[in-house]
Amino acid sequence: MIKGILFDFDDTIGNRCLYTYQTFEELLDTYCTFADPYQRETVLQDLMLWDMKGNYRKNFILENLKKKYHLPLPIADFNEWWNNHQSKHTIAFDGIEEDLAALHQKYKLALCTNGTNEAQRDKVQRAHLGDYFDAIVTSGELGHKKPAPDVYVEACKQLGLETNEVIFVGDTFSTDILGAHRLGIPAIWVIRKDWPCSLDIPRIESVHELLDIL
Ligand SMILES: [Mg+2]
Repeated sequence: MIKGILFDFDDTIGNRCLYTYQTFEELLDTYCTFADPYQRETVLQDLMLWDMKGNYRKNFILENLKKKYHLPLPIADFNEWWNNHQSKHTIAFDGIEEDLAALHQKYKLALCTNGTNEAQRDKVQRAHLGDYFDAIVTSGELGHKKPAPDVYVEACKQLGLETNEVIFVGDTFSTDILGAHRLGIPAIWVIRKDWPCSLDIPRIESVHELLDIL
């Protein structure tokens, strides 16, 4: 019997696309000047592609800005800049608070999120969602990242549940879905319905759909 739900945060609960775009706007508006709004937007849209949903090394972005647009930005440590700025822009998906409130009436809820402890906890607070989670496990605090089993096991431990009493909900296959699968935790993938995949993984396009299928 399912007693708990483990959630990823970025792009599952938090509208990462939106707050990533706003962080890139802050980056360009701090360090660059564009006479043409189409040129600024072109760079922004490339930044969104190079971001790779946060799944690749951050310096790749600075390297590409320099290589393609001849924009060498005077930032020594882009990881640090990112961690200090992105969380400020955090915004949750529309309606997520109501969805979590409804789910929390029936299930214990936990977050399992990769990132620094400070930035990830700051995102949860800024999204005003702290009250809905009975446990928050960050890779920064734990010292291991999804798909490492400890992340899922630690969240279950904090909820007082076994791994066979929870499901996992997340958007990234190589971390969220793979790690849950390795522990036998049923995973629900937050992804477009037409996204190609050779495996039959249950999928939803938003957390709101959980209310219908659980
Ligand atoms: Mg995610």
